[in-house]
Amino acid sequence: MTNLKLATLNDSGRTVVPVDSVRIGEGFTIIAGPCTVESEEQTIETAIAVKKAGADALRGGAFKPRSSPYAFQGLGLKGLQILKKAKAETGLPIVTEVIDSRDVFWVSEYADVLQIGARNMQNFSLLKEVGRSNRPVLLKRGMNSTIEEWLNCAEYILNEGNPHVILCERGIRTFEKYTRNTLDLSSVPAIKELSHLPVIVDPSHASGKASLVPALALAAVAAGADGLIIEVDIDLEKVRCDKEQTLTPTQFSEMAQKGRNLYQFMAAAQQ
Ligand code: PEP
Ligand code: MN
Repeated sequence: MTNLKLATLNDSGRTVVPVDSVRIGEGFTIIAGPCTVESEEQTIETAIAVKKAGADALRGGAFKPRSSPYAFQGLGLKGLQILKKAKAETGLPIVTEVIDSRDVFWVSEYADVLQIGARNMQNFSLLKEVGRSNRPVLLKRGMNSTIEEWLNCAEYILNEGNPHVILCERGIRTFEKYTRNTLDLSSVPAIKELSHLPVIVDPSHASGKASLVPALALAAVAAGADGLIIEVDIDLEKVRCDKEQTLTPTQFSEMAQKGRNLYQFMAAAQQ
C-alpha cells in the first residue's frame, strides 16, 4: 500500500492503546453498552450489567449521525454527563462518538475514547482534529470504504501526532439485504499483515440482527480481532435506536464468556 508511512507495520512492533487501565491490543477487550444514551437510568443500569458480564469499557452515543434529520439525534451534552456518571458508578472508561470537529475539544473532557463513526470515516477535518487531541480514537470503517482508504484515514490521525488509533470493522455495504451490512472479516487478518494498529469488530452494526451477533463475535475472535464492540441494553422494550441488533445483558454475558474462552483457546494453541 502506497502513501502509508505511520500506519504501516514496521520494526517497532504492534501498538497497544492505553485507556485507563485497559490496554487495547494486548489481550482481548470488550466494549459494550447502548447504541444511544437515552436516559440516565438506562445508561447506568446497562453499565452495571455489562460490567458484571465482563465488559472492559462502556459505549454509548450522545451525538448520533442519523440517516434522517427527523430521527432522534442523541442527548448531546446531557448524554455525556450521564456517561460521566456511569463511569463514576462502574469505573468503566467511556467510548463515545464525536461527529463535528468543533466538538472534539470539549467532548474529550467526557470521553476516554473518541469514536469516529462509519459515516464520518473520511471527514478529514474531523480526523485532523481528533489527531490533535489527547484521547485515543476508535476509527470505524466506512461502509463504502476499502481497507486502503480506511488505513489512510488512520494515517491522517497519526500524522497529527496522536499515536493511539484503534480500527473497528463494522461491515460494508453489499447487495445482501438480509443483514444490515456484510461483515468483512477478511479485513481483520489483512489489517494484521498491513498495520501495527489494533483492530476490533462490531458485529452489532455489521449484522443488524441480535440473533446473529454471538456467532459473528466468535468468528471475529477466530479471525484474530483484538476485541469487540457490542450493543447491549437493559430494557429492550424502551430502546429507540438500533433495537433489532441490541443484546440483553444475559445474551451479552453468554457471548462475552464464550468469546473470552475462544480467545484463550486460540492464544494457547498459538504458543
Ligand atoms: C455506532 O457505533 O453507534 C454507530 C453509529 O456505528 P457506525 O458508525 O458503524 O454505523
Ligand atoms: Mn447503533
